[in-house]
Amino acid sequence: MMALLFALFIGLAIGSFLNVLIVRIPKGENVAFPPSHCPVCDNALKWWHNIPLLSWLLLRGRCAYCQSPISRLYPTVELLTGLLFLVLAMKLGLTAEWFITALVFSLLLALSVIDFEYYAVPDSLNFMALGLALLMPLFIFGWDWALGEMRDFSWYQHMLLTRFKDAAIMAFSFFALGLFVKFLIKKDALGEADIIIAGTMGAMLGFPLVLVAIYVSALLAIVPALFARGHMVPFVPFLALGTWITYIFSDTFLQWWNMLYA
Ligand SMILES: [Zn+2]
Repeated sequence: MMALLFALFIGLAIGSFLNVLIVRIPKGENVAFPPSHCPVCDNALKWWHNIPLLSWLLLRGRCAYCQSPISRLYPTVELLTGLLFLVLAMKLGLTAEWFITALVFSLLLALSVIDFEYYAVPDSLNFMALGLALLMPLFIFGWDWALGEMRDFSWYQHMLLTRFKDAAIMAFSFFALGLFVKFLIKKDALGEADIIIAGTMGAMLGFPLVLVAIYVSALLAIVPALFARGHMVPFVPFLALGTWITYIFSDTFLQWWNMLYA
């Protein structure tokens, strides 16, 4: 119980930082400086205006100085990130794998929000997610070493190699698919961002689960794509959501897969 509360609080704090990334990175602003301020009246926020979730509720969604409304997006991102850390802690326990996995999904959440708002995602955050997903075995290695609970060395080696291989296959598949679709409809269909995310999905899920995730993402994207009719539909949020659903229900999906193909 304490462990889950701890996971929730870490997630809320990370969510608060994600808000900073979501607001500042697309505008090309520095994420560390200046400190948080109200975008309307420019007053610097005190630390008690910055407590995840709680401050927004206590201030009733308004700036403490000028009373202008604060977007609901902030508490929403904080809550979602908190729940993300909590749910993953239930699945993985408080381990290095839990923390890195939660960070990768947090970055995918930030990318999704940015894609919804700007129809473009920053490469910096995208590559950070891919890098963490690829190098996770090194973090697990460091954690196990610190605890003195090392596994067989080949375990880390195998995990690292598998992640690089599956990421490369997925990124190349999306790249090739993008070229093919471009040849067919003479328009860019899959951007660089989608190729990087495909790599992250490959590293996080591996085969065959990553194929399930692509399928789930496409299913989720169909309805909004039909409604949008010609408008752009950001694809990143659906890839992220498909990856999340597949990761959380991985045991069930693997069972189905084995029933069908084994
Ligand atoms: Zn203000």
